[in-house]
Amino acid sequence: MAIMKTKICPVCGKEFKGLGNICKDGDYCNECEKKVRLVFEEDEEDYLPAAKIRAKLNKYADAIAAYDSVKKPETCPICGEKLPKLMHMRLLDAYICMGCAQKAAALMHTGYGAIGCKCLSEILPLFQRAAVRGGRADASGVFYDADSLRIVYPLIHTLLEVPGEDGYDVAFIDPLDSLSDEDLQAAPALAKQRRAELEAKYGTHKAIFEVDKIKKLYNDSKGHKYYRNEYRIGGRVLMGNITLRDQAVVKRAEGTKELLIRKLGDCREYISDLKELKEGQEGGLFVESSLSFVYPGDILLID
Ligand SMILES: [Zn+2]
Ligand SMILES: [Zn+2]
Repeated sequence: MAIMKTKICPVCGKEFKGLGNICKDGDYCNECEKKVRLVFEEDEEDYLPAAKIRAKLNKYADAIAAYDSVKKPETCPICGEKLPKLMHMRLLDAYICMGCAQKAAALMHTGYGAIGCKCLSEILPLFQRAAVRGGRADASGVFYDADSLRIVYPLIHTLLEVPGEDGYDVAFIDPLDSLSDEDLQAAPALAKQRRAELEAKYGTHKAIFEVDKIKKLYNDSKGHKYYRNEYRIGGRVLMGNITLRDQAVVKRAEGTKELLIRKLGDCREYISDLKELKEGQEGGLFVESSLSFVYPGDILLID
């Protein structure tokens, strides 16, 4: 039998024997691997330096130590519904229902796997936001529907730095979360006024869309771009809701042009699977036709 060489684990610094597990700085020990499996998605750590792996293990050290002692509760700690026997999601320190797991994944723009590597305390705040609850109540308990206020308080699309990691997460800041009660109470009248202004300016339409960027789409293959006869018109819904196969019209001195909206996407350029773009929302309209007549700043009238 060959004698296994003793190695030093780059993550925990202890000696170990055996094959170990790969990370960017070489093999690390199986003791660390057990912990890594709880806080990293499958294979996610293969290309990370040991210091990054160590930092994450330290960040979640308490939850990792207590992992096996977490009991499955009767109800989901987020929505309060009965927790099904099989269909649930195990977090680092809790169990939640699949419905809430799905919402959390969408809110964090990530997959189920990544949700399973988090603590409840990281997920719960997302569910307290107005965007998730569909609006916000004022101090006297009156509820204000978010969709009806987005015309004046649209979600703000931003990037949040992930602490200790190189990447950024797409995130949305909801101005409703930080409005004073006074501003919240004034918002419906402001929304009504804004709607009246837009109607006076553009007439009555199903929706009005402001263009800010036009991109011809292509397929990328072996470093070559193959342009398609498809464009993404990026911008924001100023008023109304846009649904698939709506007709967009742009008016110019030389005449009126019509476009059929074939697909809809959110603010990310590679997403085109939405069924609806709501009032105030940033997003993309996907059309198949020559687009030499649409410019940034244009207003599309949607019917
Ligand atoms: Zn180790
Ligand atoms: Zn739930």
